[in-house]
Amino acid sequence: MSASPLTDRRHLDFTLYELLGVERLTTYPRFAEHSRDTFDAAIELAHQIAVEKFLPHNRKGDLNEPRMVDGRVELIPEIAEAMDAFNGAGFCAALADYEQGGMQLPFVVTQACDSLFSAANAGTIAYPALARAAANLLAVYGTEDQKRRYMQPIIEGRYYGTMCLSEPQAGSSLSDIKTRAIPQPDGSYRIVGAKMWISAGDHELGENIVHLLLAKIDGAPAGVRGISLFIVPRWRVNADGSRGERNDVQLAGLNHKMGQRGSVNTFLKFGENDDCHAELVGKPHHGLSYMFHMMNEERIGVGMGAVQQGSLGYQYSLKYARERRQGRHPDQKDPTASPVTLIEHADIRRMLLMQKCYIEGAQVLGFYASMLVDHALDSDETLRSESHQLLELLTPIIKAWGSDYALKANELAIQILGGYGYTRDYPVEQCYRDNRINPIHEGTNGIQALDLLGRKAMMDGGAALKLLLGKVAATCAEAAQIETLRPLAAQLAAAAELAGKTTRIAGQRMAAGEVRQVLANAQHYMQLMGHLSIAWVWLWQATVAARALPGANAVDQPFYEGKLQACRFFYATELPLVEHAAKLVSQVDDTAYAMQDEWF
Ligand SMILES: Cc1cc2nc3c(=O)[nH]c(=O)nc-3n(C[C@H](O)[C@H](O)[C@H](O)COP(=O)(O)OP(=O)(O)OC[C@H]3O[C@@H](n4cnc5c(N)ncnc54)[C@H](O)[C@@H]3O)c2cc1C
Repeated sequence: MSASPLTDRRHLDFTLYELLGVERLTTYPRFAEHSRDTFDAAIELAHQIAVEKFLPHNRKGDLNEPRMVDGRVELIPEIAEAMDAFNGAGFCAALADYEQGGMQLPFVVTQACDSLFSAANAGTIAYPALARAAANLLAVYGTEDQKRRYMQPIIEGRYYGTMCLSEPQAGSSLSDIKTRAIPQPDGSYRIVGAKMWISAGDHELGENIVHLLLAKIDGAPAGVRGISLFIVPRWRVNADGSRGERNDVQLAGLNHKMGQRGSVNTFLKFGENDDCHAELVGKPHHGLSYMFHMMNEERIGVGMGAVQQGSLGYQYSLKYARERRQGRHPDQKDPTASPVTLIEHADIRRMLLMQKCYIEGAQVLGFYASMLVDHALDSDETLRSESHQLLELLTPIIKAWGSDYALKANELAIQILGGYGYTRDYPVEQCYRDNRINPIHEGTNGIQALDLLGRKAMMDGGAALKLLLGKVAATCAEAAQIETLRPLAAQLAAAAELAGKTTRIAGQRMAAGEVRQVLANAQHYMQLMGHLSIAWVWLWQATVAARALPGANAVDQPFYEGKLQACRFFYATELPLVEHAAKLVSQVDDTAYAMQDEWF
């Protein structure tokens, strides 16, 4: 791949091959026919389609959001053309088995491909991403018949899919959903209810849309234990797989969004005429656990998508800072001296470095977690189980820290462009708007923080956290062998010890009954764990860079120097923030918790 407007390919290669060694996955029987060449070919093809078919209508999609015309959704035609190219190249089946017509790629490689599509057009990639999520879920929990009639057409790029969880009155709290599933004598169900915010909920891109919908069967237990999962097709599907009659699913309206405006977002009504046919997936009342089984991968995807928008803004602001001339150095008194480029100003370099640290750090963490997904296929049971535990712990961090800090990166990109950045003539404001959804959907970042401190850090007596701290300690030991990195290794080891101590105190205080007070500090805990995790992957990168530097060629030399300098910058300016966050958590700060409604 030559110079790309979408990504820093050198950083992508460094992450996949120099840090993670993803070629090792080809020792798994499932990936035996793959090699670094086939991985690179998939990434190269994704890049080509992203640049030729996704990027050119990114602005047009933003300016021409989907419209409802005679009860149908009208999209700009370029979206269908992009889907043809995407499906034609087989990306709708990137993860699927060869027998199903799939590419059988590792999850980490599909994430690398997806990162290019989402950088090129965050709105358009939503259509196949949701379809693939639905197919993945059916691959695990569907019956053979359901796979044949609903999953296979998605893999072939003929059907699309959605995730129908949210309702107008139930977003974060899914236990309060009201959609009903009424059992029928033939074992099927009829659905009655309404679903809000459904991405890709209605369009004419394919032959059908497979809605995966959460509902409560009449008489089910209250709360999340009463939630079941259903297939609700837009068009019913006959036993032989042919398309049947239109199902009773109505498009009730469109939501008009701030960003990602090319992807349609819908309000759907099910069973307005008491004739919405549905099939149960798996066992009754297990629906939420099936959905959550897939959530790790979805949430990593959201975090990575956010980071790609951050990366796009970073790349653009870097280019701009190298070209625009403005002002002189503070000690240059001669007004006739020619102005310097923006990048010569230390404050601009500070903002570029912050973006580099957030983006490249979060990308490494996201790709690392994606490889943990692939470790589920390893023959070593210990590695399988440890990878699963680490994934559980890291997923909320990748989703929430990644999307919060990618958005901060987008703010910095706008700031670097000054007034031009605030206008619609430059792309950085769209990056920000497209990115703003990511801290909200797939579980808000507030909910992710509660999950991290309340559940993931505490599960199995803190086993996952111990594993993470073990990884951090191993990186510190490696880095300490390199003289210049020794002080950074000591700094990281101290931060890791603080994180362990803080988590123990939080656990003890919750066990003693202060659950609400401790969890009132969940966001500070997310900051602590997020910064610790990002500092860890920066020291890892710096160690690899320091070892490679002496033999590096003229192209790689500045790349590795950049890695080392960014690591030093993060440790000087960002890592110290963990001390403040840890203090708030371990002292169980109650200033937010104790604030009374009427005092506002
Ligand atoms: C563009 C877009 C696309 C979406 N796509 C889909 C989709 O395809 N399918 C789907 O099912 N849904 C989708 N959603 C819905 C999305 O997942 C919800 O918006 C999200 O879960 C939050 O729910 P809510 O909007 O009802 O906000 P609320 O749940 O009302 O939350 C409002 C605020 O309160 C906070 N809050 C809520 N509960 C708690 C708590 N217990 N403790 C502390 N703070 C709390 C939240 O963190 C948030 O800051 C989409 C939403 C948008 C905007």
